[in-house]
Amino acid sequence: MSSITRDALRTATLYGLVSMVWLAINDYLLPRLIEEPAVLARAQQAGGYLWLALSAVLIYLARSRLLGFMGIAELARRDEDMQRLRLAAAVFDTTLEGVLVTDATGVIVHVNRAFSEITGYQQDEVLGLRPSTFKSGRHGPEFYERMFKTILSAGQWSGEIWNRRKSGEIYPQWQSIRPIRDEQGKITQFVAVFSDISSIKHSERELAHLAHYDPLTGLPNRLLFTDRAEQAHTHARRNKRSLALLLVDLDHFKHINESLGHSAGDEVLKAAAERLQIHLEKGVTLARLGGDEFAILLENAQQVAQSAELAQTILEGLREPFMVSGQSLFLTASVGISIFPYDALTAEQLLRNADAALSQAKHQGRESYAMYTAELTAHAQRRVELAAELRQAVEEHELRVFYQPIHNLHSRCIEGVEALVRWQHPARGMVSPGEFIPIAEQSGLIADIDNWVLTEACRQMGEWLAEGVAISYVAVNVSSRLFGRGDLDRRVAKVLDETGLAPEFLELEVTESAIMDDPDQAIEQMHRLRDLGLKLSIDDFGTGYSSLLRLKRMPVQKLKIDQGFVAGLPDDDDDIAIVNAIIALARAMGMRVLAEGIEQANQAGFLLKHNCELGQGYWFARPMPAEQIDWHHAPVFVSA
Ligand code: C2E
Ligand code: MG
Ligand code: MG
Repeated sequence: MSSITRDALRTATLYGLVSMVWLAINDYLLPRLIEEPAVLARAQQAGGYLWLALSAVLIYLARSRLLGFMGIAELARRDEDMQRLRLAAAVFDTTLEGVLVTDATGVIVHVNRAFSEITGYQQDEVLGLRPSTFKSGRHGPEFYERMFKTILSAGQWSGEIWNRRKSGEIYPQWQSIRPIRDEQGKITQFVAVFSDISSIKHSERELAHLAHYDPLTGLPNRLLFTDRAEQAHTHARRNKRSLALLLVDLDHFKHINESLGHSAGDEVLKAAAERLQIHLEKGVTLARLGGDEFAILLENAQQVAQSAELAQTILEGLREPFMVSGQSLFLTASVGISIFPYDALTAEQLLRNADAALSQAKHQGRESYAMYTAELTAHAQRRVELAAELRQAVEEHELRVFYQPIHNLHSRCIEGVEALVRWQHPARGMVSPGEFIPIAEQSGLIADIDNWVLTEACRQMGEWLAEGVAISYVAVNVSSRLFGRGDLDRRVAKVLDETGLAPEFLELEVTESAIMDDPDQAIEQMHRLRDLGLKLSIDDFGTGYSSLLRLKRMPVQKLKIDQGFVAGLPDDDDDIAIVNAIIALARAMGMRVLAEGIEQANQAGFLLKHNCELGQGYWFARPMPAEQIDWHHAPVFVSA
């Protein structure tokens, strides 16, 4: 209850009480005290005058008090209003948000300082204009219609809106607009409050860019590529179109990183991305999926039909040397192609099958492309099954060690044997190590397998020596995966200790790739193995990337020429040149040299004539169980 009402009530109560007292005196007390009617009448008349005078005084007092109160309240209210206005003005002027006020017809009547800072317009430049002056042209008429409808129906609108600054630049604002109504509910003004969100937008854009693009090449990354592939797939399915996915992987890129450093590697990747782009028509998506793997998405029917030709063009384009840090570098690549709807029904399958085709291309001997085929899936499936069965095979002794004799080409006698693992699968028959060793390497079973083969071979060698078989070593293959691990020498020492074989009867075969992974560590490991007293040879020599400098640092006694070069003998000029070069190199470095995969007498003859000391191959003997070896087998061939 306000003080004015309270005061009015108090005055009315007092007036009522006085009236009741006057009535009591006039009607009860006076008639009882005065019996004389004339005197009573005069007394009552005098009481009436007194009452009237009292009423007048009371009314006067009440009126002046009420007026007084009302006056003070009015003043206080006005003061409060003034304060509120001053506060609003201060907020209006100091807020960082732009404020714009229009009258009911939409004419600008007021703007604040922040408005000028954001838009570049001074107050006197915009008063009298309409907010449409700042339109960016980014929104159609329906946008503004919807906005006004919301302001009128919901009493407010807020949202993102693009406007134009005085400089002409367009920028995003976050804006709230409200109508101001008078007591009758009629709109008198509109107030718009806005902030400039261009910097927020910019960082959002940057974040989105980072999330979807590869920072090195600026190409879409795997995330964006998968997204585009999904969209393209939906589109192709709906419109009964085809779609091709090409995976391009640079061959031996790892070696570039290792030998020239990562910044050179980065430069190569950038240059390769640019070169790939040259061969692509506009609008074709090229992405970097990671590492040295790129992906291309072809959506146009003609492009899809010519995807193999494109792969060929890309391979040729990459063949041109790259100039990196002043050096020219030669790079090759492999391409895998998969096509919707022939090879895959979903985008995910498309990617997976292109990957299978890529592995096939690499397998074919790099710098080639392969189209996906159903056999590739069968192959991939078999791999998965074998991987699952391999663990059991190790535990249930399904593995065997076969031995292939190594002949001295001069004496034709067996000088040593190579231990080669076999998997006697109960249902599939013999599975070749070429197939299951890579699986074992991936699944981590390789350490167990190699350790078992080594133990078995050492034990067998011990047995042969005890029987008086005159051979000087058993050679055992070591997976490149194990070579990277520092404890190989300790494991080998343990096996030698357990089997009691003297180390000079053991030779370990290491591939070039094992050395390439981490050359310094590999060379240290070789020295530790040599310190045990055993021999080392490099297997499949010529297929890797050993540098001569590195080869010189390796304590290796033998090079094994890869069977791929021997196969072309004695006619293929390239193979002849390579084999001769390896023989010369081995001799120059004081190493022995062995040719693998000799299948014909004339190959053996050629090798003997060209000073290759040792030979191994089906023509001499196939790998076989220990007990089947004929130690006296010395085939005759002529040096040619
Ligand atoms: P590798 O060490 O280069 O072994 C030589 C391969 O050539 C063997 O294949 C052998 O059977 C085959 N071979 C021998 N003579 C001829 C010939 O005249 N013509 C042809 N075409 N091939 C011939 P295999 O036994 O299938 O082994 C393949 C590869 O698997 C081996 O190549 C070796 O890298 C790996 N491997 C075999 N056993 C083991 C093992 O116990 N541990 C590890 N880590 N790898 C092994
Ligand atoms: Mg070998
Ligand atoms: Mg070999």
